[in-house]
Amino acid sequence: MIGSLGRTLAWSVLCLLATFAGRLTIMDGTSLSLVWPAAGVTVLWFSMQRRARLRWVDPLMLAAITLVVNMATGAPLVLALWFVAANLTQVAVFLRVHARLSPQLWGAGGDAPLARSADLWRLLFATVAGTLAGAAIGPPAVWLVSGHVSWLDAAVWFTRNTVSILLIAAVGLRVGHHWRGGWQVRRIPPLRLAEYAALIVCSISAYAIGFAANHGLPLAFPLLAVTVWAGLRLHTTFVVLHDLCLGSIAVLFTLHGQGPFAVIESFQARALVAQVFVGMVAIVGLSIALGRDERAELLRQLTDTGRAAAAQAQLLTTIVDSMSDGVAVVRTDGSWAMRNPASVALLGGVTSGTGTIADPGHYGLFHPDGTPLPDADMAHTRALAGEDVHNMELLVRNSGVPDGRIVSVSARRLLGDDGVVVVFHDVTAERRQRDELASFAGVVAHDLLNPLTTIDGWAENLDDTLRGMPDTAAQRDATDSLSRIVRASGRMRHLINDLLAYTTTRNAVIAPVDVRLRDLVVDVTTARGDLAASGATPAPLFALGRLHDVHADPVLLRQLVDNLIGNAVKYTAPGVVPRIEICSVRIEGDLVRVEITDNGIGIPAGQHEAIFNNFHRAHRSGGYAGTGLGLAICKRIVERHGGSIIATDNPGGGSRFVFTLPKATRREVAHAVKANARS
Ligand code: ADP
Repeated sequence: MIGSLGRTLAWSVLCLLATFAGRLTIMDGTSLSLVWPAAGVTVLWFSMQRRARLRWVDPLMLAAITLVVNMATGAPLVLALWFVAANLTQVAVFLRVHARLSPQLWGAGGDAPLARSADLWRLLFATVAGTLAGAAIGPPAVWLVSGHVSWLDAAVWFTRNTVSILLIAAVGLRVGHHWRGGWQVRRIPPLRLAEYAALIVCSISAYAIGFAANHGLPLAFPLLAVTVWAGLRLHTTFVVLHDLCLGSIAVLFTLHGQGPFAVIESFQARALVAQVFVGMVAIVGLSIALGRDERAELLRQLTDTGRAAAAQAQLLTTIVDSMSDGVAVVRTDGSWAMRNPASVALLGGVTSGTGTIADPGHYGLFHPDGTPLPDADMAHTRALAGEDVHNMELLVRNSGVPDGRIVSVSARRLLGDDGVVVVFHDVTAERRQRDELASFAGVVAHDLLNPLTTIDGWAENLDDTLRGMPDTAAQRDATDSLSRIVRASGRMRHLINDLLAYTTTRNAVIAPVDVRLRDLVVDVTTARGDLAASGATPAPLFALGRLHDVHADPVLLRQLVDNLIGNAVKYTAPGVVPRIEICSVRIEGDLVRVEITDNGIGIPAGQHEAIFNNFHRAHRSGGYAGTGLGLAICKRIVERHGGSIIATDNPGGGSRFVFTLPKATRREVAHAVKANARS
C-alpha cells in the first residue's frame, strides 16, 4: 500500500515538475509552451508502468496536474481541459502503436533492450503517431479559445512534443532496461575512459562556443560532430544521455536568446529550428550507435559461427584420421579431394605421387581370385558412372603388402555431384577365418560321411544275408532293426549335407550374374518330375507364369528354388497331387518378386516366421522327413543377395513363399549364362 502510494506520489511530483517546467516556456501572446518535457516523461512513465496494479490512477493524476498547472500559469479552464484531452490522447496513441510495432521491447510489453536501428525507427513512428494525435487537439483548442493560432504554433507543438518523447523515451528505455536487469559494471580500459573524458570536454567547449559566445555565426551544425563521434565510438546509453544533455543546452540557450538560432527573428520559428536541431542530434547519435552495435553483434555471431564450424571441421578431421577404415573422397577428374591415413595404409602405403588415382596395376589391385582388376572395375569409376558400389572385395598385393590383403570397398556419389566417397575396410582376417571354416566343414563332412558310407555298405550286406535266412521271428526282428539303422543313417546323411550347404551359403563368396530364372525353374521342375516318376509317387503339376531374369549367384539360386519347390512337393497331404505355381513380378527398387504357391498342408498358424529359424520344423508328426535347415538356407541366400523372403497362406489352401532378388542388369540375358553355369 505504502509502495503504491509512493509510486503515485513519485509520478505526481515528476509530472508536476515536467508540466511546470514546460509552462515556464510559454510563448508571448499564446498559451503554447516551447518545450514540453511532460510529453516525454508521461510516455516513459506509462511505458514503464504497463504492468503496475495501480496504473489506472496515473491518467487521473495526469489530468488533474495538467488542469491545475495550466490554470495556475494563466490558461483558461476550457483550454486547460482541452490540453488534458490532448495529453491523454497523445500518450494513449503512442503506447498502442509502440506496443504494436515493438512488442518485444522492454517498455512495450517485452524484455528486449532498445538495441537495433529498427527499434529506433519504430519508436520514432510511434512518437509521430502520438504527437500528431495530440496536435490534432491542442493547437485547434488554442484557436478555439483564444481566437488566434498559426500553423507555426501547430508545428512548434508537434515538434516540441516529438523531440521530447523521442529523447526522453530513448533515454528511459535504455537506462530503465539496464536498471531493471541490474547494472553490469565492466572495467573500462583507461584509454576508453580518457576518450569519454575528452568527448565531454569537447562537447562542453563546442556548445559553449556555439551557444554561449555571442558571435552571431551560424555554428550549430558543426556541433553535430561531437554527436557523430559519440555515436561511432562510445556506449549507446552514454550516447542517448549525451544527446539529451546537449539538446537541453541547445534549447535553453535558444530560449534565452543566445546561440546560432537566436538570429531568427520570430520566437516560434527560432524555437522550432532549435527543436529540429535537437531532434536531429538525437536521431543521428542514436542511429549511428545502434547501427554500430548491430554490426558488432553480427560480426560476433559470424565469428562465433566461424569458430564453431572450424571446431566441428577439426573434430571431424580428427575422427576420420583416427579411423581404422579408410575414407577418401575422389573428385570427378579422378583426383583425391581428401583421404585419411588408413586409406593409404590399407593400400600398402602405395600412392600415385601425383594427387590423381593411378591405374589398378600401380597399387597392385586384383579380383579376390587373383585376376587383374580392369580400370573400369575400380570402385570410384563405377560410382562416378552412377553405380552404388557395396562391399566389393579386392586383393591388394604390392611391395607394402607382399602377402596380400583383402579389402572390401564401397563407393557412392556425393550429393551435389562433385565426386565420390570411397570407404575401405580390411576383411583379410574374416576371409581367412571363413576359408578355414569352409575347409574345416569340408573335412568334417568328409570324415562323417565316410563312416556313414561304411554303415550303409555293411547294412546292405546284412540285408542280403538276412534275406537268405529262413523267415523266423528273430529274422524279422533283425530285418526291422536293420531298416531303422538304414533310415537313421539316411537322416544323418541329410543332416550333414544340409549343414554343409548351410555353412557354404553363409560363408561362400557370392558371384552374382544375370540369370534366366525361367530356364533354371524349368530345370528344377523337370528334375522333380523325374524324381517322382522313379519313386512311383504322383507326378507334381507345375504352372509357370511370367518369370523375370534376375541378378544372382546361379548355384545359390538353384539351391533356393530347389529347396522351395522340394518343400512344396513334400508338404502335401497323402494322395493329393501337388500343384505348384511359380511366377514373378517386377517391383520398385530394381527388384524381382518371385512367388511359389502350393496346394499342400499349409503352415500352422503363428509359425510363418519361425520356420525360417535353424532346425525349426512345423510338422514333426505326419512322417515328413527333414532337418529344419532348408528354409534357413533359403533365407540366408536371399538376404545375401539383398532381398527378403516370407511365407504366407495360399488363399486357396496350401502355402505361398515370396522372395525378392535384384533384377538382371541387362535387358536380354544370353542363354549361355544358364543357371548351372558353375554347377
Ligand atoms: P525341413 O527339412 O523340415 O523341410 P525346412 O527348413 O525346409 O525344413 O522347413 C521348415 C519347416 O517349414 C518344415 O518342417 C515344415 O513344417 C514347414 N514348411 C516348409 N515348407 C512348407 C510348405 N511348402 N508347406 C507347408 N509347410 C512347409
